[in-house]
Amino acid sequence: MNIESPVLPYNFSDLEPALSRDTLVFHFLRHQRVCFDRMQAMVRGTQLESLPLEELIRVTERNPAQHAVCRYAAEVWNHDFYWHSMRPKGGGTANGPIGEALRARYGSQERFAREFKEAAGGHFGSGWLWLVWRGGALEIVTTRNAGTPLVRGDVALLGLDLWEHAYYLDHQNRRNAYVSAFLEELANWEFANRRLAEAVSTLDERPSRPRPADNPVRLLAP
Ligand code: FE
Repeated sequence: MNIESPVLPYNFSDLEPALSRDTLVFHFLRHQRVCFDRMQAMVRGTQLESLPLEELIRVTERNPAQHAVCRYAAEVWNHDFYWHSMRPKGGGTANGPIGEALRARYGSQERFAREFKEAAGGHFGSGWLWLVWRGGALEIVTTRNAGTPLVRGDVALLGLDLWEHAYYLDHQNRRNAYVSAFLEELANWEFANRRLAEAVSTLDERPSRPRPADNPVRLLAP
């Protein structure tokens, strides 16, 4: 299989106190790991086995008989993206091109934060919240369950897991507190800037799997 095991681009306790070590351990080693293992088991020995992750998602999304594979593969990609959308001592003011784009689109970063939180609060049940580049403009979008911007033609810039397993240990059912913590303490604006630069410089943009960080945490055996 061509798809590498997921990596966490920081240590489990590096996002404290916004997200606890326990949350990261369970989320990374149990939730993403389960998706990765199931995806791997379903494609092993099939023609899908040789596909890179992004292509596997696009191919299986077009075939209703393969939607189970698609869901697990999309969750592997979504979680990869989510890990890279956060960093220790992140959040706060967005500098550089992404900051300028936010102010151009929303008037101020405060108004963007308000709309980002409203989108999270308005999303019923499990899913994902994204800041994407769509047709030359920023948009805030949500996807249901394992939905991913990869198959919508959007270029994801930041992604936030809205499944309760992402925040329940730390914030219980207070999704708004979790989104606030993301914006104030975790958001990786440098990553968003790199994604935005790729998006505007590539005519046929195909969102890629985030690059492993310098010191990734390898997926451990269960
Ligand atoms: Fe998750």
